[in-house]
Amino acid sequence: MKGVTVIPRRPKSAALRDVPEPSNDEGPVLVESVAVGVCGTDEEIIAGDYGWPPPGHDHVVLGHESLGRVLDAPSDAPVSPGDAVVAFVRHPDPDPCVNCGVGEWDMCRNGRYTEHGIKERDGFMRERYRLQSHHLVRVDPSLGHEAVLLEPTSVVAKCWDHADRIASRAEVDFRRALITGAGPVGLLAAMIAIQRGLETHVLDRVTDGPKPELVTELGATYHTDIDRLGHDLDVVIECTGVGELAFHALRHVAPNGVVALAGLSGSDRRYPVEADALNKELVLENIALFGSVNAGRRHYEAAARALSQARPGWLKRIITRRVSLERWEDAFTRQPDDVKVVVDIRPDPRRTVGPTDVP
Ligand code: BGC
Repeated sequence: MKGVTVIPRRPKSAALRDVPEPSNDEGPVLVESVAVGVCGTDEEIIAGDYGWPPPGHDHVVLGHESLGRVLDAPSDAPVSPGDAVVAFVRHPDPDPCVNCGVGEWDMCRNGRYTEHGIKERDGFMRERYRLQSHHLVRVDPSLGHEAVLLEPTSVVAKCWDHADRIASRAEVDFRRALITGAGPVGLLAAMIAIQRGLETHVLDRVTDGPKPELVTELGATYHTDIDRLGHDLDVVIECTGVGELAFHALRHVAPNGVVALAGLSGSDRRYPVEADALNKELVLENIALFGSVNAGRRHYEAAARALSQARPGWLKRIITRRVSLERWEDAFTRQPDDVKVVVDIRPDPRRTVGPTDVP
């Protein structure tokens, strides 16, 4: 079968190659890969800046934002053939730390977790894979191909969960939210903000293309200048990975406000910070700044609920480009109107075999 592989830390090593059929050791559930979303992390891995191969191998199969369909599962498994499923990206460390031990692998303390398509485990940009059933979430088949947005949604569902937990230290009722970045992660974070009934603002650089429209259609307000936002934001979710934006955002947060960093920086640019002034402001106003990576089971479940509540037409429009597995390289050639680009591993079954055979 075919799969897109890369030699981590070696630029230009990504290629569509013949890869072995998944081994039974990987789990009893055989999944046919339907679609894989691509994100900045995949771009970094392809550029040679990130990623680790499985032990004893040079290559890793790329892809962590999955959507698959179960081909075969044991009769007592919680998933059955035909089910649409999304896989967790992360596995806990084999000798679990205190958090991995209670199933909170997204809070791993010793860094010995593994991640499909990123760290020491093959990813999903291949025709088939095998997993343990407890490593899969079943998704609402009516979501169709848009269920491939579940993993990025889980990442922001975790931010909202942790922002709530931090906010519960005082009588804060989130009212005004800012999301920085109108890429897929930012849009999905804004979608959850709107579902929570918040006055939602989204900041991005672009002035045209699909992003401003997607924000407005959601019922949020689109901005290109953070300085117009006032200083009474209750919660900020930073989704660009542009480090300095986090510091700008801090200046716009109300007392007891919460700032979540969800974007991974793709560079090591420097940015001077007035450290003492910032320190004073954070202390005097009880402001909390926290980072958030990956997602746990309950965040995938929350993400599945959020996607089910979204307007299907709006979700469809986030996926601005789909390419076939054979043309996978096109997915990594940025085009001006790209929001989320997806590699279709197999043709959309709704188009080829009829409505009973979704996703
Ligand atoms: C993925 C996360 C992963 C993180 C760090 C992100 O792109 O969505 O699941 O934990 O990269 O490797």
